Amino acid sequence: MRKRILITGAAGFLGSHLCDRFIQLDYHVIAIDNLITGEIRNIEHLFPLDNFEFYNHDVCNYIHIPGDLDYILHFASPASPPDYLKVPIQTLKVSSLGIHNCLGLAKNKKATILIASTSEIYGDPLVHPQTEDYWGNVNPIGPRGVYDEAKRFQEAMTMAYHKYHGVSVRIARIFNTYGPKMRLNDGRALPTFIRQIINNEPLTVYGDGSQTRSFCYVDDTIEGIYQLLISNYCLPINLGNPDEISIIEFANRLIDISGKNSELKFEKLPIDDPKRRQPSIELAKKKLNWLPKIQLSEGLKRTLAYFMAP
Ligand code: NAD
Ligand code: UDP
Repeated sequence: MRKRILITGAAGFLGSHLCDRFIQLDYHVIAIDNLITGEIRNIEHLFPLDNFEFYNHDVCNYIHIPGDLDYILHFASPASPPDYLKVPIQTLKVSSLGIHNCLGLAKNKKATILIASTSEIYGDPLVHPQTEDYWGNVNPIGPRGVYDEAKRFQEAMTMAYHKYHGVSVRIARIFNTYGPKMRLNDGRALPTFIRQIINNEPLTVYGDGSQTRSFCYVDDTIEGIYQLLISNYCLPINLGNPDEISIIEFANRLIDISGKNSELKFEKLPIDDPKRRQPSIELAKKKLNWLPKIQLSEGLKRTLAYFMAP
């Protein structure tokens, strides 16, 4: 019998890679998305398969799934800052009402549920690198609060279902992930820079570009999510690549790899933009025997090749 898995946010960047991964593993995949930031073309190649089902549904509404479920992956939520600033209320709802529905379903089906949490729960961190025992520095009423606080609530709700109802839970605190199938106009740094390189426009670096991020190639993140799912670890765990880089250096690296002569254009730094971000992945190494394998230059080469293909 095939294992049955529900993936929410299935038409998005990470959700669609997860669909591919679990289809490869011969699971029966039930995919849900309301397409608020996702793209159907990310998953339409799976439509002919008899072990793939897709439902255009908002997870904030009751989720009815006939039959058994072994696993639920809750990945529905806008993830790019410009996206969630456009739909702040939906962003708050999907990680509160949406996770409540998913947890109720997990309890009912006795399924293991893994939630996509985020490095954003650490806010503009005062501890560096960020370890899982750091509680974070988030401005609840700032523009990013709609995402960060929703994700913090989501973790709290998930732990409550675990402690109170005994639901089997996994909490992945995912750091910036990049790769094929991102939406080129989603406003995040990497797709924006790639779109600008393709269109021969200057790359828009916010602030002076000295803020840092640590970018993980999507295949590594997906492997980490899979290893976490099949583990028995039920507390939050960081998944990311500790290779920290400033945004200005990141933009220049992309230009170098692309072979173009693009220039940089400096624009205003968004409010509450975190200054530094780097995961500690000691826990993931120990508990999951996982660590990212793809170096930034290699991942950027693969991503550029995907988007620049004729
Ligand atoms: P994405 O925007 O590409 O995908 C999110 C998907 O969720 C979209 O297809 C969207 O239409 C869907 N969605 C949103 N609200 C929904 C709702 N109410 N009902 C049904 N579907 C809904 O973003 P992504 O980068 O793939 O991120 C996926 C998840 O991973 C998000 O929960 C995000 O917070 C988390 N995450 C991503 C990253 C990253 O670097 N990509 C880092 C940390 C956490
Ligand atoms: N950024 C930038 N230019 C852009 C888009 C983003 O300089 O066109 C910066 C942004 O201010 C942030 C970093 O790049 O400091 C990463 O932004 P992204 O939206 O990718 O992720 P997040 O801020 O959520 O980590």
